[in-house]
Amino acid sequence: MSARPPEVRSTCPYCGVGCGVLLSAGEAGLAVRGDPDHPANLGRLCSKGTNLGETVDLEGRLLHPLYKGARIDWDTALQTVADTFRTTIAEHGPDSVAFYVSGQLLTEDYYLANKLMKGFIGSGNIDTNSRLCMASTVAGHKRAFGTDTVPGTYADLELADLVVLTGSNLAWCHPVLYQRIVAAKAARPNMKIVVIDPRRTATCDGADLHLALKPGSDVALFNGLLVAIADQGARDASFADRVDGFEAALAAARAGDLTVTGIAPALMQQFFDLWIATEKVVTVFSQGVNQSASGSDKVNAILNCHLATGRIGRPGMGPFSVTGQPNAMGGREVGGLANTLACHMDIENPDHRQALRQFWDAPIMPERAGLKAVEMFQAVASGQIKALWIMHTNPAVTMPDADAVKAAIAGCDFVVCSDITTQTDTARLADMVLPATAWGEKSGTVTNSDRTISRQRAALPTPGEARPDWAQLAEVGRRMGWHAAFDFATPAEIFREYAALSGIAGGFGLDFDISGLAGLSDTAYDALTPTRWPVSAQKTGGRFFGDGRFFTPSGRAQMLALTHRAPVARLQPRYPLRLNTGRIRDQWHTMTRTAKSPRLSAHLAEPFLELHPSDATARGITPSALVEVTTPHGRAILRALITDRVQPGEVFAPMHWTGENAPSARIDALIAPITDPVSGQPESKAAAARIAPF
Ligand code: SF4
Repeated sequence: MSARPPEVRSTCPYCGVGCGVLLSAGEAGLAVRGDPDHPANLGRLCSKGTNLGETVDLEGRLLHPLYKGARIDWDTALQTVADTFRTTIAEHGPDSVAFYVSGQLLTEDYYLANKLMKGFIGSGNIDTNSRLCMASTVAGHKRAFGTDTVPGTYADLELADLVVLTGSNLAWCHPVLYQRIVAAKAARPNMKIVVIDPRRTATCDGADLHLALKPGSDVALFNGLLVAIADQGARDASFADRVDGFEAALAAARAGDLTVTGIAPALMQQFFDLWIATEKVVTVFSQGVNQSASGSDKVNAILNCHLATGRIGRPGMGPFSVTGQPNAMGGREVGGLANTLACHMDIENPDHRQALRQFWDAPIMPERAGLKAVEMFQAVASGQIKALWIMHTNPAVTMPDADAVKAAIAGCDFVVCSDITTQTDTARLADMVLPATAWGEKSGTVTNSDRTISRQRAALPTPGEARPDWAQLAEVGRRMGWHAAFDFATPAEIFREYAALSGIAGGFGLDFDISGLAGLSDTAYDALTPTRWPVSAQKTGGRFFGDGRFFTPSGRAQMLALTHRAPVARLQPRYPLRLNTGRIRDQWHTMTRTAKSPRLSAHLAEPFLELHPSDATARGITPSALVEVTTPHGRAILRALITDRVQPGEVFAPMHWTGENAPSARIDALIAPITDPVSGQPESKAAAARIAPF
């Protein structure tokens, strides 16, 4: 009998729950099971994690660099990238180039990309697909807390007596976290779950209450809750001196109109009463809140209610954002957004800029934010951006106005794409395609939604000539002339520098401080077990804000005066329906990996449109017929799924399918490039559309 191969501890590459996995590669392929010792999942896995072993074959893998479709060697490829970026910058300035990166990158990759662009090229033009995912939460956290801090931990969701899931189909998009909540409710039947979502999703199946609010009306709803908190005398007097802005926030809330929510008054009152009567309440929010032209305000409307009641940073209570990607949090921490610096330092703060410049011994540092994702691709289209490096993301499919983005990339002077395949809409447009190591082959760290840093480790050999992203970035940095700053031989070396830098942020009194990990030996880095930040001499793991100390200049939290704003995309006679977009249970992003799994593809095999029976009848649309969906920006052909899970006047379509597998179902081609003025996050869930039989 052959010996069982040793298991490698790693994490799942999909959602921000960040489940631990145990991998063993053998003749039968890659076996995957949940890691019983990882605090995020305690051995559980969802369907996507369970079927990871079906996704690691090399069919379609990019195994060597390509330049204009022809194979070239690494030396020529990297020299061409370095030379082209250097000459473009010399001729047109640092803001003529950009990086568009991804929450699929490991922290070490992300850190080097940010260092190269902000500290050495000297532009803020690095943004990430997390702009489409979490930017509104970042903005909301910073406005209220002074820093982008998730106050609580996953354990709070199990300790709560009430979990409110708003703008989150947690059962499909963060399944293991949902399983943990459902298990907690089974053990304590008095625990309540409320879902706030225009759709009756799978998440509602385990809920006590579902509030089907009108798309975009979250601010009005939580303003209503704030008024009820005040009127029922539920404000926490002992926390009042830790919070500024209560009166102004309340006055703005009183001026609001609850009817815009479309929720029956009695049902809404039931929710308000339950929330107020339950001290241990966690409000979980995700893309339904973030992906909106008023996403930042929605986040702050939720935070307002927790701050007014002091229900934050204590066991079983607090606002809780869940991130979409495996390392969206890591990207936020390294400064992967165009308007942030590494370790939660601020680009507008001259002291932070100076400290970072000194630490990196950097020649230059941008004094203002770079272009956020939507602006970045508009600048590519206008010719302002002339050289673009895209890493592990597929903006030709996922950006709003995706057809325009696709045309912009096609027209750009020089596009580099680091990916694991050329079979994406974006990679096919690139001049240079660099083969990157994939999940299962690469090694580094990620941070999940509750601030836990975990190792991803390699269990598979590196195929062909693939190289890790950090190695590609370091080599380009050296070839651009910055030898010492990019002289890294391992991800452990990068992590140590990053951890040391975070001590400077800690010295400014910021939240993100992992300086306690700066001295990790290579062996200790290899063996690092899941660790929640901060990790410093002052503070380790745990919750933030229970002590009433925030990271604002005053040390107090800031409540905001907020007013409901309807979605910017207006309904009109020609486009009378509200188009919502989102994920399905068994696919991930643009399906590069999940489409390889027959079991995952069996769940929902083709793109579809959920529509209400009344809307179907009015247009003569029958079950499973093809439907044409049209917005001012594009058109898609989808299979009709007639269901009362959506409200009359509202339709829903998943965002996963691409030009590679369903050219007529590129949903983000239908979405307008409308963004939140604070966060720059697109309004991806409230397009104005019409439908007709195809
Ligand atoms: Fe992976 Fe998320 Fe599923 Fe966990 S819940 S196994 S992290 S997709």
